[in-house]
Amino acid sequence: MNSIVYVGLGSNLKDPAAQLARAVMELSRLPRTTLLAQSPFYASRPVGPQDQPDFVNGAVQLSTGLSPHQLLDHLQAIEQAHGRERLRHWGPRTLDLDVLLFGSHVINDSRLTVPHAELANRDFALQPLLDLNPELKLPDGRRIDQLRAQCPDNQLRKLPPMAGSD
Ligand code: AMP
Repeated sequence: MNSIVYVGLGSNLKDPAAQLARAVMELSRLPRTTLLAQSPFYASRPVGPQDQPDFVNGAVQLSTGLSPHQLLDHLQAIEQAHGRERLRHWGPRTLDLDVLLFGSHVINDSRLTVPHAELANRDFALQPLLDLNPELKLPDGRRIDQLRAQCPDNQLRKLPPMAGSD
């Protein structure tokens, strides 16, 4: 049985919007996986160190027959293929892919925390989720729109659609 999964994307190096657009295409080609929808992209101020470029963030909704850990393996391979650089914690990166929600699964192990541990504090993850599904809730019943209304402000700016994208 397939699960409905939400993956968050972020980048602030090497043409971030193009990194995200390429990653969306790569996610659409994962085995046993269908890309259902793609959010707009947003620019946001970085969390943590401020002496780095703004981030571009978005999210996709997937239907997948992969397990959560299989999906994470694929996300990490895509990050590596984008030449991911991580100079420091919360520092600049070429591509960051996070499992935000995996159906109604709750996972807490050495590799995966789902729902993503910082989701409730990140407007740049919550807003794309709302764009994809305004009714979306966490497995514990909390509504994403309510979390969005309460979370810190990273000065999100919606970017115009990229040429060639939906
Ligand atoms: P970061 O690159 O800072 O997002 O952290 C990557 C690490 O977070 C990896 O070692 C993953 O195993 C771990 N991780 C835990 N939960 C998640 C999640 N929901 N999505 C992606 N990575 C996760």
